[in-house]
Amino acid sequence: MFGSSLRTVLAALVAVWIAAPLVSSSAHADPKFERWKADFARYAVGKGISKAIVQKAFADLKSIDPDVIRSVRYQPEFRNPLWFYFDSRVNERTTKNGLVMKEKWSRWLTAIEKRYGVDRHIILAIWSMETGYGSALSRPSAQRSVIRSLATLAFADAKRRKLWRAQLISALQILQDGILSKDKLVGSWSGAMGHTQFIPTSYYRYKQDADGDGKVDIWTNIPDALATAANHLKVAGWQKGKTWGYEVRVPKSVEKLKRKTKTLKEWEKLGVVRANGNAFPRPDDRATLRLLGGKNGPQFLMLRNFFVIKRYNNADLYALAVGHQADLLRGGGDFIVPIPRPFRRLTLDENVEVQKRLARLGFYKGPVSGIIGPKTRSAIANAQQKFGMRRDGFASKKLLDRLRAES
Ligand code: CA
Repeated sequence: MFGSSLRTVLAALVAVWIAAPLVSSSAHADPKFERWKADFARYAVGKGISKAIVQKAFADLKSIDPDVIRSVRYQPEFRNPLWFYFDSRVNERTTKNGLVMKEKWSRWLTAIEKRYGVDRHIILAIWSMETGYGSALSRPSAQRSVIRSLATLAFADAKRRKLWRAQLISALQILQDGILSKDKLVGSWSGAMGHTQFIPTSYYRYKQDADGDGKVDIWTNIPDALATAANHLKVAGWQKGKTWGYEVRVPKSVEKLKRKTKTLKEWEKLGVVRANGNAFPRPDDRATLRLLGGKNGPQFLMLRNFFVIKRYNNADLYALAVGHQADLLRGGGDFIVPIPRPFRRLTLDENVEVQKRLARLGFYKGPVSGIIGPKTRSAIANAQQKFGMRRDGFASKKLLDRLRAES
């Protein structure tokens, strides 16, 4: 739940941060940070947080978290090619796992769908994108102290000071309200928490107690986490019973109207048709033309719900990936015009084989899961370098063939 407009701002800040020496994270306390803590403690008390809570929260907070500052530099949405963004987020594994979750949580999904009017597949897709149906929550990167991360940001990021201070106050409020103990108050580097990744102020804004136990636990209680996500979409204006958009074919002459909004009927008159050849079910709906698939890639008319998904995370590709994953979980197929790619997508089994062979050759030590994450990519890059191939870190059939020949 960390809008990409915010990400963009942060990315811009990074340049400043990189240039500035990082505050030491080592043994002796930094007097500047200590002063900041004392100032913030006073501010928090003024905001209604008890002195005891602040003292307890800050007691063992000796230094800022340098990893938080490093993490802010890693922004995959803006660095990876489109096909890689989709491969890593919407694939055989995410669909397979999603179908398991759809079955497992079906009773809750029915109740949530009924209550908030948000399609279960969209909720599942958000859960997938945010934390891989919770699987990412066990990673150290999702287990950071929210207090420390937010204190780091509030201290080090002068430009967004107001935002981080508000988040930190809300995080302290979570402790004060007895929702979680400090050691359990964990999240990402930006303070995004739980299965569906809410920052503290959004937690308070959207929280829903689905199972009625009097607490909203998005960290370990899946009905609560999913209902909170559904509530966010509902509040953002989700239109019940409608989809997010349509894959379309657009005449060359109409491409210049990208980002324009018209009714589907008007688009039809301009020669825009659904890629699957079907008619638009509600011709009076307004839709915005987005050419997100790149040159020669799929093109889309986006409905209101696409922009609602963007309220969850303000990136076009994020919203498209959520919509596409939802369609796959509903039993739909791939885009009709595929996302352009330099080589075919490897299957899950092939990716597993890549990892096994990389491990056998000593390039890779991580888990053999078929998930091509940063560790696998850097192992691939090292193998490519050794083999005299282009060092791009991507798993391709060409790479797999070479690994087969070498191991
Ligand atoms: Ca609950």
